[in-house]
Amino acid sequence: MRLSRRWLRPLIAATAILGACAPAERDYHHEILAFSTYVSVTFYAVTEEESRIALTQLEALFHDVDADWYPWTPGELQRINAAIAAGERIAVSERLASLMRAATAYEQQSQGRFNAGLGRLIELWGLHEMANPPTRIPNADELAALLQTAPGLHSLSWQGFELSSSNPELMIDLGGIAKGAILEESQILLRAIGMDNAIVNIGGDLIVIGRARGRAARIGIRSPLSDTPLARVVINDGESVITSGSYERFVEIDGTRYTHILNPISGLPVAHTVSVTVVDDDPVLADAAATALMVGGAGEFDMLVEALNLEYALLIEAGGDTRLTPGMRERLQWIDQP
Ligand code: AMP
Ligand code: MG
Repeated sequence: MRLSRRWLRPLIAATAILGACAPAERDYHHEILAFSTYVSVTFYAVTEEESRIALTQLEALFHDVDADWYPWTPGELQRINAAIAAGERIAVSERLASLMRAATAYEQQSQGRFNAGLGRLIELWGLHEMANPPTRIPNADELAALLQTAPGLHSLSWQGFELSSSNPELMIDLGGIAKGAILEESQILLRAIGMDNAIVNIGGDLIVIGRARGRAARIGIRSPLSDTPLARVVINDGESVITSGSYERFVEIDGTRYTHILNPISGLPVAHTVSVTVVDDDPVLADAAATALMVGGAGEFDMLVEALNLEYALLIEAGGDTRLTPGMRERLQWIDQP
C-alpha cells in the first residue's frame, strides 16, 4: 500500500512529537564505593529517571549489607558472633539466615575447603585489620589450639530463624561468599524494577543481566600477573564471573606475603594457587566454589568440581600451570596464556 502525501505528512509529524515526548534512553555507568572497593554498575538503554531509581535502590542494598555482613564492624553478624561466643540463642534476619544456610551446605559439599567459620583464624593471622598489619605469623601451638576447636557452620542448629551453636569458639566470616550473595540480591532487585540489561561489577566479580547493547557480554578474566586480561569469555544472561586470587588481599610479614585465603584444615594461607575463576548462573555457588578451589589447588580440582557440580572453572597455579573444566576450555578465548 502506498500512502498519499496527504496522509504521510501528519503521520511523520505525529511520530516526531511522540519521539520528542519519550524520554531519551542511553547507557548509564555509575561507580559506588562499598565493601572497601568500587562497585561499577552499568545500565543499558534506560532513561535517566530509571537509572537514578535503580542506583538509589542498589545503594540502599549495599549500605545495609555493608554494615550487617561484616564481622568486624557493629552490625548483625557481629551481634550473632557475640551470641555464639556467649552460648546464647539469637534471632537472625531472613537474608542472613539463608546466606548462612548456603555457607553450611558449601562447607559440607567442599569437605571443609570452604568454611565460613574461620573468623578466629583470620584474626590470628591479622587479616582483618589491613590498616594495622601483624608483625609476626602465628606459632604452631596457637594454630593447633585453634584448629582443635574445629570451627565450622556445621555446629549451628536452627529453630526457624533462631540459631545457636554447640561451639562457642565459632566466629562466622562470610567474606568468602558475600560478593556472590550481593550480586544475587542485586540481580533480584534490578529485574524486579524492570532493569533487564545491566552489569553489576564488585571489584572484578560480576553478574550480567540481559545483554549489553544488544549483544552477549564479553568479559575479560583478570590476570594474576598483569593488567591485561588473561582471557575472554562470552557471558550469558544471568551468569556470574567470580575470581578468587591470592594477590587480592594479603599481609606482608618479614618480606613474605600471606594471602587472605586460608586452608581451614591446616590453618595456613594458600600458597600453591594464585587464582581461580568460576562462571555459573548461581553467583553464591560461584563465590564459594572459587574460594574452595583456591584451597584445594590443582590436586583437588577434579574432586571439588564434581562435588560442587561446576561446569566452568579455571585454576592458575603459582608456577603458572592451569587447570580447566572441559566446559571452560570450550568457552575461553585466551589473550595471554600463562
Ligand atoms: P574470596 O575472595 O571469595 O575467596 O573470599 C576471601 C575471603 O573469605 C577472605 O578475606 C576471608 O574473609 C574468607 N575466607 C578465607 N579463606 C576462606 C575459606 N577457606 N573458606 C571460606 N571463607 C574464607
Ligand atoms: Mg569466594
